[in-house]
Amino acid sequence: MSFPDPSNPYSFDDFLSWRDGVDYYADDAFLQEVVRTYAGAGADAVDARARDFSKKLSFRWRQLSEVAAMPENRPSVMHYDGHGHRIDRIVRPMETLELERGVFDERIFSPSLEPWARLTMIYLLNQNGESCVTCPIACTEGMVALLERFADNDELRRVYAHITDGLDGHVGIGAQYLSEIQGGSDVPANLVEARRDGAQWRIYGKKFFCSATHADYAVVTAKPTGSEQLGIFLVPSWLPGDKALERRNGFTIDRIKWKMGTSELTTAELTFDGALAYPVGPLDRGLANVVGIVLTLSRLNVGISAAASMARAAREARGYAKFRTAFGQPLERFPMVHAQLQSLDHFARRSTAGAFGLYARTLSSGLQGGLGTEGTLDERRERFLVRELIMLQKLAAAWDATDVVRSAMSIFGGHGVMEDFSVLPRLYRDAAVNELWEGPRNVLVSQIHRDMQRAAQWFPPAEFAKAVAGPDADGLSDLTHELETLVTHPSLQTLDAQTVEVCVRWDALCQRLVHVWQDRCLGECT
Ligand SMILES: Cc1cc2nc3c(=O)[nH]c(=O)nc-3n(C[C@H](O)[C@H](O)[C@H](O)COP(=O)(O)OP(=O)(O)OC[C@H]3O[C@@H](n4cnc5c(N)ncnc54)[C@H](O)[C@@H]3O)c2cc1C
Repeated sequence: MSFPDPSNPYSFDDFLSWRDGVDYYADDAFLQEVVRTYAGAGADAVDARARDFSKKLSFRWRQLSEVAAMPENRPSVMHYDGHGHRIDRIVRPMETLELERGVFDERIFSPSLEPWARLTMIYLLNQNGESCVTCPIACTEGMVALLERFADNDELRRVYAHITDGLDGHVGIGAQYLSEIQGGSDVPANLVEARRDGAQWRIYGKKFFCSATHADYAVVTAKPTGSEQLGIFLVPSWLPGDKALERRNGFTIDRIKWKMGTSELTTAELTFDGALAYPVGPLDRGLANVVGIVLTLSRLNVGISAAASMARAAREARGYAKFRTAFGQPLERFPMVHAQLQSLDHFARRSTAGAFGLYARTLSSGLQGGLGTEGTLDERRERFLVRELIMLQKLAAAWDATDVVRSAMSIFGGHGVMEDFSVLPRLYRDAAVNELWEGPRNVLVSQIHRDMQRAAQWFPPAEFAKAVAGPDADGLSDLTHELETLVTHPSLQTLDAQTVEVCVRWDALCQRLVHVWQDRCLGECT
């Protein structure tokens, strides 16, 4: 019972002081355990680097992310300067610029940085979820991996140096422009053209979804004149000396999209009209390399980002449920809430463990375009497993993140949907984007089905199920049976009643495979 009190003293301050004092890494014993499990001999050094990084991102960078995400700070494009020059300047708030410099100055892609430190830093960064920084981090990672393989001339080596250790104290930023108006998933249908101009190449045509438009360089897919093969090109946003003059390299920014999520990040429509471009890798292997290297890394990144957002959502929901009372007791004491909090924790932990576990396998197997035939059978199977798990994790973790963040929001009641009460609405909007970019769910589940069929001779479904779940996993025979049954269905692309039924089962099986993998990794960490 409570008596009237018009000066109602209720305050959220205790919750806020807890929340604002959380150090994402130092206060997360589970994450530290995951790092120790997977980072091996270098774990102490990774731990030290993560602690240092976390001190910045849990406090100052968190605040900057919150301000940058306010609607009045959304980025815009200024097409002309006051003297009539076309500049296409991306205008962003000071908070984003400070955050971006702080993060890129960490030289996350320096070859001297231990890969586990890099992964842990990217994971932590994604708990803030400021997409104007995290999206270009993912894009730069793909560009670095491409250039590690294919930087065979001075221009590309210079770009590589710029985006890894930096040039003249500035660390360059990457973007990737594949999608066109007629289709994003169907990259082979790209129409943008790469034309020879003496010894050089120039790009012509339109790209319709170009995020991180402020970047210094972009990986652009285009077809050489008269060819149906897709090539990869590196396009500098400004040619040397032109950045200060804001004279872009042969392209215009036509429009910035108005998006539901990742709204601190520009996603623009561009027209290329003779942009100077450098080919990256063999021009007839562009599709395999862009999918096998660039998109694969971005998909891995989506898994990490989804896990990080779930971890933050679960933590803040638990903190709030401890603080907030209803009907005379803390929310966490209600069995319904208790069960939901347990589920949030479980999803956050399994996704985190799964992402780190998959990263470990990726580091040891490496990335490649296509299914590949090199190496021993074991090596080939391992590369295939990693390739499929990356797609599976991308689609399932992104899917889970929307549910987890939405459930966390519901623990906050009506405050859960208030944009200025917690980070959750922003994480929720961004989670919806994570489902779509870097390959939407339907495209990935279909690709996995095709891959499993193509590999069935040398990697039968039963062996694949065992490799995902572990040889002694509970429910392995049931998983194997379902996998074997569905892989024998000829194609998921023909519209008939049986295929529709198989598609529904296949979609559910893909989600289940990921959870089995994640729980296996979770078991290794706890
Ligand atoms: C916020 C945001 C930022 C983005 N930034 C970039 C960027 O920087 N660079 C870039 O290149 N792209 C970017 N994209 C584009 C993104 O990668 C595409 O939206 C995505 O690839 C899907 O392409 P689409 O939108 O043309 O959808 P479509 O390809 O038209 O797909 C529509 C639907 O059809 C389904 N579908 C398509 N093909 C199949 C199939 N074979 N089998 C079954 N189902 C299928 C899809 O799963 C989806 O459900 C961005 C997208 C968003 C939302």
